[in-house]
Parts: sequence; structure tokens; C-alpha cells
Amino acid sequence: MRIVALAGGIGGARFLRGLLAAVGPQDEITVIGNTGDDIHLYGLKVCPDLDTVMYTLGGGIHEEQGWGRADETWSIKAEMKEYGVGPEWFGLGDRDFATHLVRSQMLTAGYSLSQVTEALCVRWNPGVRLLPMSDDRVETHVRITDEQGTRAVHFQEYWVRLHAAVDAEAIIPVGADTAKPAPGVLEAIAEADVILFPPSNPVVSIGTILAVPGIREAVAAAPAPVVGLSPIIGGAPVRGMADKVLAAVGVEATAEAVALNYGPDLIDGWLVDTADEHAVAAVEAAGIACRAVPLLMTDVEATAEMARTALALAEQVRHGS
Ligand code: GDP
Ligand code: CA
Repeated sequence: MRIVALAGGIGGARFLRGLLAAVGPQDEITVIGNTGDDIHLYGLKVCPDLDTVMYTLGGGIHEEQGWGRADETWSIKAEMKEYGVGPEWFGLGDRDFATHLVRSQMLTAGYSLSQVTEALCVRWNPGVRLLPMSDDRVETHVRITDEQGTRAVHFQEYWVRLHAAVDAEAIIPVGADTAKPAPGVLEAIAEADVILFPPSNPVVSIGTILAVPGIREAVAAAPAPVVGLSPIIGGAPVRGMADKVLAAVGVEATAEAVALNYGPDLIDGWLVDTADEHAVAAVEAAGIACRAVPLLMTDVEATAEMARTALALAEQVRHGS
């Protein structure tokens, strides 16, 4: 079976670990990763979501934190601070720096982000084919209004420095309109047997991937069933501040509203948590097959069970039952 999954960072990566545990060795998983969170720091290109997927599946992630390297040290950051060079709010540890150095060196030498990602994955051996959504630069910005007036800030500044404490007025994936899908992305979607939307952020992770011209259209036109899992449980994101960015695009932070926002043209099936069983009827009425099952990724086995249910729902949708 050829499975394609669109993925952001932590929610995407944790789901993929369960998916890998649920499938057999003959199944092929292609992950299309969000690069809208990418940021340039100290002259280096940092790709937080690609790295979170790579480290999580490759066994290098800081488990409790969900991002960054295990057994990390922070000497470079401390030295930068002595020079008065920031930003202090963005955590790049020493081990993590090596990844960004290799990536930036290769990009400077003329390799594309897909080629670089493939090269980094040789070390991490994530068990999936990890493709950036695009080789072109896309950076999500968030329009906010605070005491400094109305302005756009980089998504990382909004999320990490400002902790999404101010309202997001608009989400702008800068560069997305002219970005091209990375090599292999459209082919993987067209040839997939199943397409999954993990419980990643629907706006700034999955939404950004779909904003690359051609990707949304390819998913909608794909012969494969498309099944998503809700990142919203009981009216709130399980982790993070997805409600803030959902509000910016006029979508309520409910499992049902997120499904309807993707819509029946894009997704065929949707899983909500048992806490949201009441949402099933409305989602189904919109033409999206829906089931309520436990959706907390408490451990790999619980997550694998979510993945098995998503794959089973895809089969049911495929056979029209
Ligand atoms: P990010 O790039 O690190 O923000 O990660 P993603 O976009 O991939 O995922 C973030 C989303 O994962 C958030 O909206 C969370 O609500 C969701 N999430 C995190 N843990 C869980 C979980 O255990 N279950 C479900 N259903 N969603 C989760
Ligand atoms: Ca992210």
C-alpha cells in the first residue's frame, strides 16, 4: 500500500510514528512536510517541521518537549548571547545546529531542499520518504495588532516569542502563491492508495501545504480516499494554540468545524475523538464519513490504533459503505 501523509511538526510526527507501527514492511509511506515554519537564523536555514518528523522517526527527538534533539546542550546559544546576538526566544541547541549547518552548506552549494532533506534522512533513516512540500521559499507570516501597531510577524515570532497571546488577524503564507510542489509531491499524491491528514495544525501546517498551487487540486483529484484526524478535541487543541490561527481564518475550534473547513471536496473521511461523538452526525451530513474513536496519542500503541482506524475508514470509503 502506498500511503501519503501531509504533516506539520509535533502532531504530524507523533502520528507518523504510530502509522509506521501500524503498517507492514511492504507498505510505503511518503510524507509531504510543511516548510512554512522555516526560518533563517544566524545565516542558517532552519526547517522545524521537517526536522521534528526526521528526529521523531529517527529516534533523535527530545521526547517530552516534542521538538529538538535528545540530550541537547546549549553552548552555542550561550556564546551567541555573550555577543549580544539573538534571537534569544528561539531554541537552537548544539546538536540541532549541526543539522542546520549541513542543510545550509548544501543549499549554498546548490542542492535543492528536497535533495538536502534526502541527504539528512540518510543519517536518520526515518522509515518514510520525507519530501518538503516545496523547494521554494515559503514563510508563514501572521498579521497582529499590538502596542506597536498593526504589522506582520514571522510565524515563529508569533508562536514562540509571543506565545500566540495576541489575536492572529490573518495568516499569510508568503511565497506560497508562486511556489511549486517539490519533485515527487504531485506524483506521490496521484499514485497513492490512501492519503492521510494527521492531527496537524489545519491552518499553519496542513493549510500551508495545501496553499502550494497544485497540491490542494491534486489531493482533491486523487483517486485515493483522503482521511483526516482531528487535532481538536472537546473544543480545544490538544497541544499548542491552533484555536488562535483557526480564528484568524474564521473557523471555530471544534472537530466538526475543522472537517467542514477542509470540506467534502477534499476529505472523504474524518476521525473525531470520543469526546466529540456529538459531531459525527453533522460531519456525515456534509458528506464526509465520520467515526468517533480515542484520538489522544498517549503512546505509540494508542497512536497505531488511531492509524489503523484511519486506514480502515479509508477502505470503507473506497468501497462506498
Ligand atoms: P507543530 O508544527 O509542532 O505545531 O505540529 P503539527 O501542526 O503537526 O500539530 C499540532 C497539532 O497537533 C495541534 O493542533 C494539536 O492539537 C495536535 N495534537 C497534539 N497532540 C495530539 C494528540 O494526542 N491527539 C490529537 N488528536 N491531536 C494532537
Ligand atoms: Ca509547525
